[in-house]
Amino acid sequence: MNIFKIRDDILNNKTTAEDEVKKALSLAKEKQEYNALISLTEERALEKAKEIDQRLKNGEEVGELAGVPFVVKDNFLAFGAPSTAASKMLANFNAPLQATAVEKLEEQGAICIGKANLDAFAHGGSTENSAYGVTKNAIDINRVAGGSSGGSAVVTALDIVPFALGSDTGGSIRQPASFNGVYGVKPTYGTVSRFGVVAMASSTDTIGVFTKTAKEADLVMKIMAGQDEKDMMTLPNFYQTIEAPKKAKIGIIKEFMDEGIDEDVKKATLNYAEKLKAAGHEIIEVSLPMSKYSLAIYYIIIPAEVSSNLARYDGIRYGLRSSKATTLGDVYGISRDEGFEKENKRRIMIGSYVLSSGFFDAYYMKAQKARTLLKNEFENLFTQCDFLLGPVTPTPAFKIGENTQDPIKMYLADIMTVPASLVGLPAISVPAGESQNGLPIGVQIIGKMKSDAEIIALADSLENNK
Ligand code: GLN
Repeated sequence: MNIFKIRDDILNNKTTAEDEVKKALSLAKEKQEYNALISLTEERALEKAKEIDQRLKNGEEVGELAGVPFVVKDNFLAFGAPSTAASKMLANFNAPLQATAVEKLEEQGAICIGKANLDAFAHGGSTENSAYGVTKNAIDINRVAGGSSGGSAVVTALDIVPFALGSDTGGSIRQPASFNGVYGVKPTYGTVSRFGVVAMASSTDTIGVFTKTAKEADLVMKIMAGQDEKDMMTLPNFYQTIEAPKKAKIGIIKEFMDEGIDEDVKKATLNYAEKLKAAGHEIIEVSLPMSKYSLAIYYIIIPAEVSSNLARYDGIRYGLRSSKATTLGDVYGISRDEGFEKENKRRIMIGSYVLSSGFFDAYYMKAQKARTLLKNEFENLFTQCDFLLGPVTPTPAFKIGENTQDPIKMYLADIMTVPASLVGLPAISVPAGESQNGLPIGVQIIGKMKSDAEIIALADSLENNK
């Protein structure tokens, strides 16, 4: 399964878009036990495939991804099936429009075949918070897929499709990529339009991709990147495929390698550093002391934004309206109680609390100030080196149910992914070996602002010891 191969085979008449879409759909059905997909968009996908095949026959332009099947995380608005965000709140929501990212891929001929499972509203790191059941890890079915984009990572790892879209607010692409042994790109904040993607935390939400190789990620990011008047935070397009630097200075973040981290993960990270060294790069150790506060900062600011973004789902303006409600108060109360998952409610409550007038200065304001200090530290590190390196997560994929009773334990797994999110930097999760019991381990490369193509190129240069 490779984007370039599928596309070229279709262009050279070795296969058809219809056959490729049918293949992906039947694989998706065969692998249902993973619960990676909430819905298939079969009818629409087949129609689109026939359209591409016809256009090819007519000698018309078909785009860079002609006939290539893909999957979207179900918090993207996309036609063909409801867009649920894995919540009961949006169970019957048929989107009136498509996300800009999906539109851009379709313009290039890519075909969405289904919608991937996630933690409801992207709140979580294991895809156990979904209203549609837990997604299973692609390598070990007793373990979590990671999250919140667990379904997208798993369909890529299982080769159902060559690429899948995800959103990353605090690690939701990088962490499941690492847990399932695929690439996951979280771009610079503002690279890809979030228009048409269900908002989680607007100051860190980003759109990215899962692939099996770095080159494929590069192509998809190039297509999705660019300014969109419908997302005022998007940057003018800067994404341009480039060659990897021959000799770069790469800083291993000391705090990410300290105690608490699994030995296998540490080893895999150091091995990767060795490979970079062997390829001619210089490895140094750097320190990011503020990283120890990053979880605290994240779990104040993100719930604050979540509580605000989810206020619109009230049974009146948007979302499920409970049939049990008879008074206005109940329309709000019962609808929100039925529509949201437990983790959604927890975040709404924390967010409302830290934004309340009595506590705003003590929590929210303080967290924003600490966030600025974290940003300053990153800026300082990038005067010492070109890239930063560290693990993606402290451990490989944990067992299903292992952390569900203890939200703090679950949040701790985000310790290495939230720093880049809070400051908007691009980061990639690169497959970098396995634990002793055969679980995939990823390493994280963090780049300077807008160095998205560079970090992908660096990962590509090391792929298969190239
Ligand atoms: N695990 C993180 C959280 O629960 C990240 C979520 C995300 O990136 N959507 O907030």
